[in-house]
Amino acid sequence: MKRILSQLLNLPDVAVESSLEEGSVLILSVRKKTKSAVCPQCGKKSEHLHQNQNYLVKDLPIGDKEVILNVNRRRFKCKTCRKTFNEKLDFVGARKTYTHRYAENIVKQLISSNVSNVAENNGLTDEEVNA
Ligand SMILES: [Zn+2]
Repeated sequence: MKRILSQLLNLPDVAVESSLEEGSVLILSVRKKTKSAVCPQCGKKSEHLHQNQNYLVKDLPIGDKEVILNVNRRRFKCKTCRKTFNEKLDFVGARKTYTHRYAENIVKQLISSNVSNVAENNGLTDEEVNA
């Protein structure tokens, strides 16, 4: 089941660890599959997990379910610098509450709905508005 959910989620190197259904909302606990992260200071890989930190971000719906990701953004400790750092996640920006692809989808919807709204309000077809 987790494997299927990971495939459905389709985010590179991201594994679904558990899932929870709350009405129409599907909460997926996810983390990167990699066991290490690159230190932003010295560029060396660290496998020394310092802390797990979870936070929620909105993602694209799966079927008729709204999807919330419970993301584990792990904190690692670099043995060279002796400092801790957050792993970099490529599917969500720092301090963002939604994934990159969710934001892209909203922008697309806005563009198309504006055209449709404009068309509807003016008694035109989408093609006429787009022309
Ligand atoms: Zn370092």
